[in-house]
Amino acid sequence: MTSSSVRHSTPHSTAITRIGSLLTNDPSLRTPDNPLGLLQDAAVVIEGDRVVWTGTSSKAPATDSHHDAGGRALLPGFVDSHAHLVFAGDRTAEFHARMSGRPYTAGGIRTTVAATRAASDAELSANVARYLAEALRQGTTTQETKSGYGLTTHDEARALRIAAGHTDEVTYLGAHVVAPEFADDPAAYVALVTGDMLDACAPHARWIDVFCERGAFDGDQARAVLTAGAARGLIPRVHANQLSHGPGVRLAVELDAASADHCTHLTDADVDALASAPRTVATLLPGAEFSTRAVYPDARRLLDAGVTVALSTDCNPGSSFTSSMAFCVAVAVRDMGMTPDEAVVAATLGGARALRRTDVGAIVPGARADLHLLDAPSHVHLAYRPGVPLTAAVWQAGEKRV
Ligand SMILES: [Zn+2]
Repeated sequence: MTSSSVRHSTPHSTAITRIGSLLTNDPSLRTPDNPLGLLQDAAVVIEGDRVVWTGTSSKAPATDSHHDAGGRALLPGFVDSHAHLVFAGDRTAEFHARMSGRPYTAGGIRTTVAATRAASDAELSANVARYLAEALRQGTTTQETKSGYGLTTHDEARALRIAAGHTDEVTYLGAHVVAPEFADDPAAYVALVTGDMLDACAPHARWIDVFCERGAFDGDQARAVLTAGAARGLIPRVHANQLSHGPGVRLAVELDAASADHCTHLTDADVDALASAPRTVATLLPGAEFSTRAVYPDARRLLDAGVTVALSTDCNPGSSFTSSMAFCVAVAVRDMGMTPDEAVVAATLGGARALRRTDVGAIVPGARADLHLLDAPSHVHLAYRPGVPLTAAVWQAGEKRV
């Protein structure tokens, strides 16, 4: 190979210099005194879609281009491992009534199912794109999304196909609730979810999920759904213990699920099960409790037991219509017993672990160049300045998007 062809094949390089506080989550830099792997007066070099170097700003190697961070904080892009973005319509009236103390009897999730079934592919795709763009503007560079508002073979497969056009992290949630047509025969709906619907959906998804809760699917039904999905190569995750105690968390551990999501109502046995299963992340979704005026999960209890915790938005039109990971960080610090450091790690590295990804959630050589520059000197400002739009710039796979 000639030297000119080497130059030609080298991807474009950029140095981000004068980073006041670089939060790396780099295991080789993390110590008890520096649990986030923080570097001061730092630089990051990206080449193509990858991080290739981190270190002291004055020692940064020469690059094709350059971005002066001006002393601001840089952290990994947020990894939002739990959202429901394939839907049409909204539930403003329901939220308004709930927060105004008025009874509201219409619809609930069925309202969204009806609107989603009635929407065109183009409408649903435009909605997913819109919420992904909204999240990106707030620093989210990896976004999971689920189906679950179709509840027919056609509509679930359509939702997943559309989602897969926008993100790699796609979850089949045919078992969100029993479809209205099967209200009198939930067993037949489970047979559909584990049969024809699974056949149609599996090619478009990486994960399978089930809402294991009173009023949705019990432990045996949830096990049947997840086991059938796993047999088709889908990796389990579980909506577990959101509204009440139940078998969801222990089922997630039993089936080596990537995450047990919500974890609001836990027994000591549930906490012990999660602590004994480092591959099953406890994903906490404070937007849901915020938007329903419910009791928050106790993150402190989980962290003290040694459980890996992720924070995610649960973005959906019914119970948590936020795409803001920064908001979730602020609530987790204020009301769930997390320190600012723990909450930011949970929103980045924790989310990556919940998606079993090693290429995102940390700023280390070899990782995907997903970077979030704050208009603030420290990641602590995400909790210290709640509700303030602090995102100054975002790189996704090496490309400056914001
Ligand atoms: Zn959810």
